[in-house]
Amino acid sequence: MKKACRSCGNSTQTPQVQNVTHGLCPACTEMILGNPDRLQSFLNKIEVPTLLMQSNPRLVVTANHGAQVLFGKSPAQVSGLRGGQVFECRHSFSEAGCGLDENCLNCTIKEAVIETLTTGVSQNEVQTVLPIKTPHGFEAYGVSIATERIGPSALLAIRSFTRI
Ligand SMILES: [Zn+2]
Repeated sequence: MKKACRSCGNSTQTPQVQNVTHGLCPACTEMILGNPDRLQSFLNKIEVPTLLMQSNPRLVVTANHGAQVLFGKSPAQVSGLRGGQVFECRHSFSEAGCGLDENCLNCTIKEAVIETLTTGVSQNEVQTVLPIKTPHGFEAYGVSIATERIGPSALLAIRSFTRI
């Protein structure tokens, strides 16, 4: 699929659907990932709340502005957390923890991130319902996410996060 790189404007051809960045060439990917300030400013241009996930161990690296507002957490507060800890999913508070609890076995978000990190294939409209911690206890939230691999990491874009 041929597209203009959103960072340098050059035409780029990628085998993957870039459903989160909407176009980023390999040279810009490398440059952005190698510079924390550039990375943060690029992430902030993504129009939906987005987390950057690293592989092995699968942890949150940082959050764009939208995700900082959505979850009320700074990049420093999310760095090194499991995805579910950022969402404050009930299963991330268990003894085994996010991704390891028995309730996480079929977590579609976890599966989408693993799929994208291991195969590079973007995932779109991955939906689930998560029990999210709120001031009123745990409440069911409908979540819809998309993923895209960026270098060795993955972007986790939160298209919807709504109490149901
Ligand atoms: Zn570029």
